[in-house]
Amino acid sequence: MNTKALSLLKQYFGYDSFRPMQAQIIESILNKKDTLVLMPTGGGKSICFQIPALIIPGICIVVSPLISLMKDQVDTLNANGIAAAFLNSSLDLATQNEIIRKCSNNEIKILYISPERVAKEIDYLLKRLPINLFAIDEAHCVSSWGHEFRPEYTNLRSLKTNFPHIPVIALTATANNQTKADIIKQLHLVNPEVFVASFDRPNLNISVKLGTKPKQKTEEIISFIKKRVNDTGIIYCLSRNSCDKLSETLKLNGVNAASYHAGLPSEERHRVQTGFIQDQIQVICATIAFGMGIDKSNVRYVIHFNVPKSIEGYYQEIGRAGRDGLPSETLMYFGYGDLTILRSFAMNGNQSQLNLDKLKQVERFAEAVSCRRRILLSYFGETIVNDCGNCDVCLPVPEIELATTYDEVNYTKPVKGKGSGNYSVEIFEKFRVLRRQIADGEKLPAYIIFSDATLKDMAEKLPRTLLQMLEVSGVGQKKLEKYGQQFLDLILESKIPPTPTIIDVEYKERISKKQALGNTYDTTLELYNSGLTIEQIAAQRGYTISTIYSHITFLYNTGKIDTLEPFITPDEIKLLSSKFPNLSPESKLKEIFDTLDGALDYHKIKLIIAYLNR
Ligand code: ADP
Ligand code: ZN
Repeated sequence: MNTKALSLLKQYFGYDSFRPMQAQIIESILNKKDTLVLMPTGGGKSICFQIPALIIPGICIVVSPLISLMKDQVDTLNANGIAAAFLNSSLDLATQNEIIRKCSNNEIKILYISPERVAKEIDYLLKRLPINLFAIDEAHCVSSWGHEFRPEYTNLRSLKTNFPHIPVIALTATANNQTKADIIKQLHLVNPEVFVASFDRPNLNISVKLGTKPKQKTEEIISFIKKRVNDTGIIYCLSRNSCDKLSETLKLNGVNAASYHAGLPSEERHRVQTGFIQDQIQVICATIAFGMGIDKSNVRYVIHFNVPKSIEGYYQEIGRAGRDGLPSETLMYFGYGDLTILRSFAMNGNQSQLNLDKLKQVERFAEAVSCRRRILLSYFGETIVNDCGNCDVCLPVPEIELATTYDEVNYTKPVKGKGSGNYSVEIFEKFRVLRRQIADGEKLPAYIIFSDATLKDMAEKLPRTLLQMLEVSGVGQKKLEKYGQQFLDLILESKIPPTPTIIDVEYKERISKKQALGNTYDTTLELYNSGLTIEQIAAQRGYTISTIYSHITFLYNTGKIDTLEPFITPDEIKLLSSKFPNLSPESKLKEIFDTLDGALDYHKIKLIIAYLNR
């Protein structure tokens, strides 16, 4: 690994290691190769071009379609001590000239501009600057296949003609193959290195509820929100009218909610969006128009009040939760009334068959009884070996029902995720208040000061010195200098003993979930021990065969079944282990299956992997 890249990651961003693929992507750019990155929202795309921009002398030009996103990214970079600016029509002429002067003077490392502006400046400003890299963010906007096509993006094809020796990195969260090919073609990328990250978002809990009556939905949602007073979320509704109605009802029930859709005047939309970003509005009831232009990393839940029109859209929308990597919840209400309405929309629009097919996929997804994540990822051509353990199928007790036991103790709050998960909620709340004060003072969104993930890590590590503060993930040099002492003072004042002990309400919950999960395995075990075949168990329990096989794998892994003899033969084990000497639970199932040319079915492969790993 490039050690310079790693030390800049620590110095500017406060992170200790790269996420999957980031290092290779950076390497590719440093080798001056055109590069295409397909990575889900929250995967960490920005750092992939920001670090090379810092390493290579000169200025990096970032093309970004939305003014609000540009501002957010530039604020984030500046907060980390990186000289960045944006150039777009929202600025007055004097400010624009000042930025151009700074760019020409080598005082800016990263410049964000709009695609229109690129076309305008290609012969003037851009030719005069020592450009080290072009980064095209939201690159799927160049493809007329996609639903977010922007004609201005087609201007970008002239970048490679005008600047043949400057590498271009194109980034998108769209995983579609057609779009991928189109981006390469439209941008005239030369022999690009293509990086496709996993589209899994393990921190998102995925739940679907079928057949809930509208009134009950609203009641459930109110109680859901009230149990998460410090968390912000988005509720997607089908129509403008239902956004307005739901947000009114929420407000009547004391929830700080607002409605957002294309029917509102632009000042109102702006007010709502800013309020949400600044954590001043807790819940947004929105049509799908909301969310594209915001980078808010601490959206803790996304609820679909109505059935979404397609799996792609649904995945993109739930993807707006938990960009900071902390556990976040998503819940879809699937109702047959909605489905009828959507079907009639689909039938009356263009491409009716295509839209009906998309709707059918959503229906199949909602009605399925196997791991939700497994199904979702299969739409993106990904296969996972084990069921996820973080969806309503894997955890049979829906999150929303579990939630009704919170009230007992109100001074602690569920905390889970990476790290020890042990931290005082009291100090975390104090951190949040301090962060809020700083953010208001600097007129910045709170998550730009420190992300929720950073505050949580700080609450876990409870640093006692500035040097220790630097160990906290997300605390770089600049933020240490600006905010370190204030947070340190809070810790020292609060006199928490160095290893905090807390009462963890969530512990109880986790146990009850585990028990619920345990019960489903035990039921399968009982039936298995009574002599039923896998098929019979599946039929009796109303599960798919593949779910029962995954139970068997689990039971074997946990020692409740001690032989897999009835399912796999020594020859089959030999076949697999000779072709794949380094099997692990992370191995790509589809690859194995394809290499063996179907000689072993998926269940057998999984069981053999379990056998070899025990
Ligand atoms: P994307 O553009 O792919 O949606 P971002 O670039 O906004 O994702 O990154 C999402 C979050 O992950 C940000 O808060 C970012 O600071 C954080 N992040 C990125 N890279 C790392 C890393 N190597 N370690 C820890 N956090 C990271
Ligand atoms: Zn699952």
